[in-house]
Amino acid sequence: MARTISLPGFVNAHSHAFQRALRGRAAGGDFWAWRDGMLEDAERQTAESVRALYASTYREMHAAGYTAVGEFHYLGLDTALAAAEAAADACVAFVCVYAAYARGGLPRMRQESVAAYLGDLETLRSNGIAVAVAPHSVRACPRDWLVELGRYARDDGLPLHVHANEQPREVEESLAEHGVRPIELLADCGCLGERTTVVHATHANGAELDLLRDSDSTICVCPTTEADLGDGFLPAVRVKHRGIRLCIGSDSNVRIDPFEELRQLEGIARRQDGRRNVFATEELWEIGGANGASSLGLETWADVEVDPGHPSLAGVEEEDLRAALIAGCGADVVVAPVR
Ligand SMILES: [Zn+2]
Repeated sequence: MARTISLPGFVNAHSHAFQRALRGRAAGGDFWAWRDGMLEDAERQTAESVRALYASTYREMHAAGYTAVGEFHYLGLDTALAAAEAAADACVAFVCVYAAYARGGLPRMRQESVAAYLGDLETLRSNGIAVAVAPHSVRACPRDWLVELGRYARDDGLPLHVHANEQPREVEESLAEHGVRPIELLADCGCLGERTTVVHATHANGAELDLLRDSDSTICVCPTTEADLGDGFLPAVRVKHRGIRLCIGSDSNVRIDPFEELRQLEGIARRQDGRRNVFATEELWEIGGANGASSLGLETWADVEVDPGHPSLAGVEEEDLRAALIAGCGADVVVAPVR
């Protein structure tokens, strides 16, 4: 084999690996209809099916250049243990972003109390699995849960991940129930901070973005999924102007390609701003790697090898390689790891 070039690996800060099975299914007129079908698939999962499906999905991630994954897991404890085994098989560093779910969803997603949730989390930790505290959303967790979970994450120095502002309806429901928007509620409940990652923030307004900036929180943007589900666009330019840290996630795994996530992020920003290079190339690489690692509390993650002889890189000067990878390449430039 010709020489390869070693580059920092990518970190997938937000995945629901079981949703890989939904790729290509056109069902669902909008996010909520898609979610009904997704829940049917979630209901069917067993430890055995998770073990097999997640291992193949994590291998696909590894081949695409993701060397670490935060699995936002809401299928229960036995399947969380199976997911950790699957990641180990695929040689992908794994953080179980274990979801707290008080209401809605399926019975298997819910815990009876915060104490029951924390019991599961302690079991994962005692099995040597890295974890993050994850109130699923303000839709799934009431205020008192958010307060307790925020406190636990803070006291134990754990990352906290939470979905917020993916869909306008979620914002409307939060306003109806609490009189404040989702990220405002998270701030009130002590859930924002330098270890917090808000997933999506698609419909965050200026005041909410200010809260994320002031608390040094991170946003995990998942552009291929947000496009697929018709969620909307990250307010990328407003996020950039505030200096809010970003990381990426493959989320529903409709596509597993870190270059594409980064290209779409920059594409959204260019369309919003009417100019090029809103995020510098080095910044996009940080968003794809280091920022995801810090979001998940990981200190190290493996590098990847890319093939500079790949046809997509023909005619590209070496100093332009990193920019060209994001601008014009797919994950097939990553050389399959030797196993
Ligand atoms: Zn998600």
